[in-house]
Amino acid sequence: MQFSQKSTEHINSCRFCWMCHHVCPIGNATGLERNTARARALGLSMVERGAVEYSDDIVSNVYECSLCGGCMTDCVTGWDPVMFTKEARLGAALDGILPDYVLTMINNLQEKGNIYGADKNPNIPVFENSDTLFFLGEDTRAKGCAKYAIEILKKAGIEFAILENEPSSGYSMDFLIGAAAETKAVMENCANVLSSYKRVICYDPADAKVMLREYKEWGIVLKAEVVTFTAFVAELIKSGALKVKKGDMVLTPQDSPLLARDIEETQPMRDILSACGEVNEMLLNREYTVLAGNLIMNEYMPQVMEMVAEKRWFNAKNADTKILVTASTAEYELLSKTKPEGMELLKLEEVVAKCL
Ligand code: SF4
Ligand code: SF4
Repeated sequence: MQFSQKSTEHINSCRFCWMCHHVCPIGNATGLERNTARARALGLSMVERGAVEYSDDIVSNVYECSLCGGCMTDCVTGWDPVMFTKEARLGAALDGILPDYVLTMINNLQEKGNIYGADKNPNIPVFENSDTLFFLGEDTRAKGCAKYAIEILKKAGIEFAILENEPSSGYSMDFLIGAAAETKAVMENCANVLSSYKRVICYDPADAKVMLREYKEWGIVLKAEVVTFTAFVAELIKSGALKVKKGDMVLTPQDSPLLARDIEETQPMRDILSACGEVNEMLLNREYTVLAGNLIMNEYMPQVMEMVAEKRWFNAKNADTKILVTASTAEYELLSKTKPEGMELLKLEEVVAKCL
């Protein structure tokens, strides 16, 4: 395993530091030192110096990170554990030592078009003949539901296409093996399909994140304008195309780290919620948000993912949350599994649908 000079510098800077351990959703859920950024850096620094093999246990540890970027945001010195963790995943792929669960997900993607190995979802409609594409994403097609999102776009008079065979955006491959040639090929294929459209509305923050960030970084040209579903709906409400009646709901936003940190979008969700009701913030919001679940990790560490969601419910409860609102398919699925009695969970579009 060879690390770049940049990653080596970040690994060596993190390995003796413990300053961000309190913000890690995985470490907070498991209580294990091995889940902190510093412990991961320590293991990888030994691999980098040739002191130990890149063993199965160290590779597993590299997959126990959600890449949520909480540590990076908290780091006053600007070091980046997400970068070296992704590079370590790429290294495991290049060395041929990926865990079996990763290989299974990659095979599923090749065979079924999604890492979950799910068959085509009969509840997803197919719409054609529009220059606007509503991109639902792998997580939603395999595990989620976009019924209310489709309903509110129609209500606003938006014409849009939904593909029968939507390609993977590359988010899952980027998560699993980072900047590999295979990941780039998946992204290029997606960009090619999207080139028939003028505008792409990205339902899931995960897909918006790679289209707006990784595609640019890797020089993959997207001819279509990409907009997040949250930003698009906020604009529909602002322009009057979507008329909502403000009600008496008290709504607490759960910021997706993908939106809040990776593409720095936090305001549109609040604009939507304040048009529909009263916004009640919880601690650790906007760019300091805490991840509430990741469906890819749920494939190989489901108990930890439930604990991560339970911890976020605990934060919500402390803020006297009545209704927690998320725009992320993954976070919705994990939060709904662990929802405490007396609290409500809504997808962002469900809030809007209630106010039409
Ligand atoms: S990211 Fe920053 S705060 Fe966290 S372990 Fe590394 S150097 Fe310390
Ligand atoms: S990226 Fe997130 S999950 Fe990974 S070490 Fe940092 S805070 Fe923890």
